[in-house]
Amino acid sequence: MQANILIVDAIATNRIVLKVKLKKAYYEVTYAATMQDAVKVVRSDLPDLVISATTLPDGGVAELCRILAKCPQTEQIPILAIGCQGDSASRMAILETGVHDILPQPVDETLLLGRVRSLIRAHISIAEWRMREDTCRALGMAEPATEFQVQTHCVLAGNDAPLLQKFAMHLRPMLSAQLALSSPTALMQQINGEKMPDVFVLILAENATAAMADLSFISTLRAHGRARHTGIIVLQTKKDSGVGAHALDLGADDLMANGFDATELALRIRAVMRRKRMGEQLRATVRTGLQAAVFDPLTGLYNRRYAMPHLERIYEHACTTDRSFAVLVADLDHFKRINDIYGHASGDAVLVEVGHRLRAGLRNTDMVARIGGEEFLVILPGTNLDEAQKAALRICRDISALPYVVPGSSVPINVTISIGMALGGNASRDGATAEQNGLALLKQADSALYAAKGQGRNQVNLSRPAA
Ligand code: GH3
Ligand code: MG
Ligand code: MG
Repeated sequence: MQANILIVDAIATNRIVLKVKLKKAYYEVTYAATMQDAVKVVRSDLPDLVISATTLPDGGVAELCRILAKCPQTEQIPILAIGCQGDSASRMAILETGVHDILPQPVDETLLLGRVRSLIRAHISIAEWRMREDTCRALGMAEPATEFQVQTHCVLAGNDAPLLQKFAMHLRPMLSAQLALSSPTALMQQINGEKMPDVFVLILAENATAAMADLSFISTLRAHGRARHTGIIVLQTKKDSGVGAHALDLGADDLMANGFDATELALRIRAVMRRKRMGEQLRATVRTGLQAAVFDPLTGLYNRRYAMPHLERIYEHACTTDRSFAVLVADLDHFKRINDIYGHASGDAVLVEVGHRLRAGLRNTDMVARIGGEEFLVILPGTNLDEAQKAALRICRDISALPYVVPGSSVPINVTISIGMALGGNASRDGATAEQNGLALLKQADSALYAAKGQGRNQVNLSRPAA
C-alpha cells in the first residue's frame, strides 16, 4: 500500500506543485486548505506524513503540531513544514513543537523526497512496533515499560578535528548530554566496546566526493547489530541536496542541511533522542510481553504454553535422530499442607527454591517448566532409560536433601517430590501426530506419577508402556 501524505496549504498553486512532485514518487495525496480542515482530515485518514505551509489562514504549522500531539492516535504522525524560514527564533519555535524540518520555498525536490522517504520509513517502523505492542497488550502480556532517565551520550564524528572542537565548544553549553569527539574510522574500531553512544552527529566534509565517502559510516552503523537503533544526525558543512537526500536514504534519522547552528543542533539531538527512547520502549514492551507469554513469573521457569509445543519438537527430533528422550512429571508432596501451616507466601518461597534446584541439577539442553500449581515438567532430550532414571532419582534427592527457609517458619521445613517418568521417541504410534504422541507421553508420565503418590510419595515411578 502506498503511503498517504496530507498537504496543508491555503494557496492552491503550492498544493498542486507539491502534489505533482509527490505523485511522481507514487504517494497518495490528500489536501487541506486550513488548520481546522487539516485536523479533521488527519483524525479521519491518519496519514503517514503531513506537509504543511508554515502559516495558515487560521493558525500555523506549530499550532497544528501541538493539536496533533495531544491525541495518542495522531501524536506520532511526522510533520514537515514548507515556507518562510523567518528569523532563527521563529524557526526554533516551530522545530521545538516537534515539526521535523522546515524547507524553504521553492522546494528542492531531491531533498524533499529524501526527507519524505526517511520520515515515512521511520513512521511505518514505529507504527509496526506499536501494533505488536498492542497485540501483546490485547493478549494481556505486556507490562508497561518503565521510563528510565539516563544521561545521553552523544558523539560528534568527522575528519576535521579543529572544526569538531569548535562545534563542540558551542554545543556543550546547550546540551546536558555527555559529548565526545571522534573520527568515523576510530568510531568503527571502538564500536564493539562496552558503551554504545545514543546519538552520532556525523559532520560531512565540504567536498562532495569526500562527503559521499563519509556517508558509508551510516550504512556500516546500520548494519551493525548493536548500533542498528542508534540515532544518527548528519550535518552538512556545505549545502548539497543530493548528498543530503542520500544520507537520509542510507538511514540517517535527521539532517541539518544548512550548516552548523548550536541551538538547532541541540534541539535536533534532543528530538532524535526522544524518538529513539520511544522506539526502545516499544521494543522493550514487546520483548517483555513475549517473555511473559512463555515464562512463569514466580519461578522464572518456562510455562505450559511453551512446554507443550517444545515437547512436540523434542518428539520430532527424537524420531529423526532415532534417540530416545525422557518426560518427567514431578509434583510436590502434600504441598497444600505447607500453605495451610506456614501460609501462601511460604508455599511460594518453596516453589521458587524448587525451581532453582531443578534448574541447577539439569543440563542446558534439558527443559524445565512449571505446568501447574506445584507440578513441573522436565524433558531430557537424547536420554536413555538408565540415564533418565538416574536423573530422576537425583532430582528427588536434590529436592529433599536440604530443608527450605520460608517466611512462615522459624525453622527450615522439609519438602519432598514425587516423579512419574515415561520414555519417548522410539515407538511412535502409527498415524499419530507429534502433538498426539507428546500428549500420550505426558499422560503416561502422569499415570506413573499417580502410582508414585499411591506408593508412598518421595519416589520415582517409571511408566511401563502397554505391550
Ligand atoms: P499431593 O502430595 O497428593 O500432590 O498433595 P498436594 O497437597 O501437593 O496436592 P493438592 O493438589 O491437594 O494441593 C496442591 C496445592 O497447591 C493447592 C494449591 O492451593 C497450591 N498451589 C497451587 N498453586 C500455588 C501457588 O502458585 N502458590 C502457592 N503457595 N500454592 C499454590
Ligand atoms: Mg502435590
Ligand atoms: Mg498437583
